[in-house]
Amino acid sequence: SGHARAPQHASGLDALRTVYGFESFRGDQAEVVEHVASGGDAVVLMPTGGGKSVCYQVPALVREGTGLVVSPLIALMHDQVEALRANGVAAAYLNSSQDPSERAEVERAYVPGELDLIYVAPERLSSPQTRGLLARGALSVIAIDEAHCVSQWGHDFRPDYLTLGDLGEAFPGVPRVALTATATRETHREITERLHLGSARHFVASFDRPNIQYRIEAKTEARRQLLQFIRSQPDRSAGIVYALSRKSVEQTASFLAGQGIDAIPYHAGLPAETRTAHQARFLREDGVVVVATIAFGMGIDKPDVRFVAHIDLPKSVEGYYQETGRAGRDGEPSVAWMAYGLGDVVQQRRLIQQGDGDRARQQRQQQHLDAMLALCETVECRRQNLLAYFGQSSDPCGNCDTCLEAPKTWDGLVAAQKLMSTIVRLQRERGQSFGAGHLIDILRGKETERMRRFRHDELSTYGIGDDLSDQDWRSVIRQLLARGLLAPQGEYNTLAVTPESAGVLRGETPVPLRHDVIGRKSRPASARK
Ligand code: ADP
Ligand code: ZN
Repeated sequence: SGHARAPQHASGLDALRTVYGFESFRGDQAEVVEHVASGGDAVVLMPTGGGKSVCYQVPALVREGTGLVVSPLIALMHDQVEALRANGVAAAYLNSSQDPSERAEVERAYVPGELDLIYVAPERLSSPQTRGLLARGALSVIAIDEAHCVSQWGHDFRPDYLTLGDLGEAFPGVPRVALTATATRETHREITERLHLGSARHFVASFDRPNIQYRIEAKTEARRQLLQFIRSQPDRSAGIVYALSRKSVEQTASFLAGQGIDAIPYHAGLPAETRTAHQARFLREDGVVVVATIAFGMGIDKPDVRFVAHIDLPKSVEGYYQETGRAGRDGEPSVAWMAYGLGDVVQQRRLIQQGDGDRARQQRQQQHLDAMLALCETVECRRQNLLAYFGQSSDPCGNCDTCLEAPKTWDGLVAAQKLMSTIVRLQRERGQSFGAGHLIDILRGKETERMRRFRHDELSTYGIGDDLSDQDWRSVIRQLLARGLLAPQGEYNTLAVTPESAGVLRGETPVPLRHDVIGRKSRPASARK
């Protein structure tokens, strides 16, 4: 049977200096390390780039035994382990990508205590073989990384995480630490409960990433706007562009490449070799822009990502925060830029309505989306809005688009009433419903073939909205949809009023709207730290 791995360093600080070459601990690290190294359980909420790895690796190096790291990022385990080995740490991993002989070698090394750290994929931990193996050696610490994956309602749920709850009972006396960069109260509660961390100490860091400048603009022509944004950034800035579909990823990457940007695609539909090669280029070379689905980036440790751009709306603020959090881990000025428009709101509202899942799940998704939309449409500080979502308060930041240039608002009540009464009339008088395009044509009094065919030029609201441009109207509709004052319905995404619309039609609900800003000139990101 095994021997426990002997402690490799006399103190946490000693390990930090010799293994990583860092001078001192950062933020909560010292306290977490101290607490876990002396046998306590911990829940650590720390933003991406905050330095979570040190929080479990250092305790593993100063305690007797091998540190177990549960990580869902199979694709990255190899790189993580290689990086540790390069620093002189005896690390290994067990996952489904290995052949039996590689696995056997790791098992052989683990049992007699030759390893400092062993990374294991969550699905392996539900198997009696893996549990049996771990019991034959000696564990120093159990770290559960990306712990928010245990949250069923979160954006990254992984059923295997539910089986991690009894690790404490299975390995009594081994301190456990759960870590995540997702900090909503609900996720925090679920982690504590489902991972049986009732007696853990909680370390909640500030989620502010002051070096990231947040910018969200109205989408008119996503790719052109993206190009303009990228060109406004310092030359050869490394960046990630997130898009929803594989097709959009491919098209955007080739569009950018055609414009002279060193852009490459990344999505789950590409051959494994291509993905590996593209990821490697992004990590090792300067100035590569990866256009990707959200499959890309989880756990990617590239400190000098200068921008993260979204050309489609993320489904939740957690998702947005995680994705944008991949920018500027080195603390240098970085930008989180997004273009979002009417189509995004319609599409996402519809996806939720049509999606399977019970009513509670739909409601939850709706809440996620509403919070995301509120962030997009706010006229106040983006950072304040973002941090408030995570239950943290702050002053206006001075480093987001709304702080840098206060958005102008206008009274949209009359415009909203014109639009809503058009919708209501069509519905009541003719039993018809239409999408944004045709409604705008009616309001602006356009003479189209469709207008004549439907005799919509006879409507009393025909032409009453010609004081606004098509783009203005799209902005109005987007903002009303974002606030639930309109809803898409049916197969063709036609627009309907909602119960809340009544207050607007009666003139009782104020409708302040923001003037959209498109293609704002770049500003130097302030280097607040
Ligand atoms: P997280 O997992 O929280 O996103 P990491 O553990 O990957 O963060 O650390 C983020 C970056 O910060 C890494 O580049 C890491 O080397 C660096 N880092 C972590 N702790 C320290 C420290 N105490 N001093 C200096 N740099 C640190
Ligand atoms: Zn701000």
